[in-house]
Amino acid sequence: MSQCRGVPPGIPHSDPPVTPPLSPDSRGPVNVVLVGPPGSGKGTQAVRLAERYEIPHISTGEILRAAVRAGTDLGRQVADTLAKGSLVSDDLMTDLVRARLGEPDTGNGFVLDGFPRTVAQARALDEVLGPSPMMVILIEVPDADIVRRMGTRRVCDSCRLTQSVADVFHPDTEPCPYCGGNLVRRPDDEPETVRHRLATYAQYAAPVIAHYRSRPSFAVVDGLQHADKVAAAVAALIDRLLSQQS
Ligand code: AMP
Repeated sequence: MSQCRGVPPGIPHSDPPVTPPLSPDSRGPVNVVLVGPPGSGKGTQAVRLAERYEIPHISTGEILRAAVRAGTDLGRQVADTLAKGSLVSDDLMTDLVRARLGEPDTGNGFVLDGFPRTVAQARALDEVLGPSPMMVILIEVPDADIVRRMGTRRVCDSCRLTQSVADVFHPDTEPCPYCGGNLVRRPDDEPETVRHRLATYAQYAAPVIAHYRSRPSFAVVDGLQHADKVAAAVAALIDRLLSQQS
């Protein structure tokens, strides 16, 4: 699914200068893992990275939500877990990601958003990638800011763009600025579920971050900055790592 770039159409903004990316032919694969709490902007940043480096954005949460919407076997299997904001089993997630990374469009790399969530998943990913280089970027945002952000996060029921409603007092009356569709709250963005998802993140994320932290390809970005600044910081980190690899 495409996701909001952080700025609705019609609102002027200027991106910080970022150098043009190397084309996929003149560089190695760009394998990126974005880590961060729900609502930290991983999805928004993943969309931008996918465009910049011409790689697929693989959001495990979106793959699961699409399966629930389509009523597939997978969707029926995970619907309750998603509704509660708990984690789907490692075996299921690992099989799903292994299959997705085996598809031909990942030849130039990929940006993973929402996986790995546990150390078992991180180890499985190491195994799938083997010697292929991987960059892990942690987008840090404090819990209080996450809760505030999720309160205004909506998804368009027509074009599926994720965005933030501007009118916090009447958040359910704004149409989608892109297509005029209805902006609805994701069921797992209900405040109670958000708190559960944050607690789940707190429980599982620390060991995953510890798994990666000592690697030279691990970096932390301040997710409280404007989405454009986060994007510029992430692109600069990836470009630096790419130049070290060449
Ligand atoms: P997200 O959109 O990444 O916040 O994911 C939404 C929901 O999908 C999560 O709350 C989990 O229920 C499930 N999910 C997504 N990715 C994973 C994963 N790697 N491991 C376990 N559950 C996941």
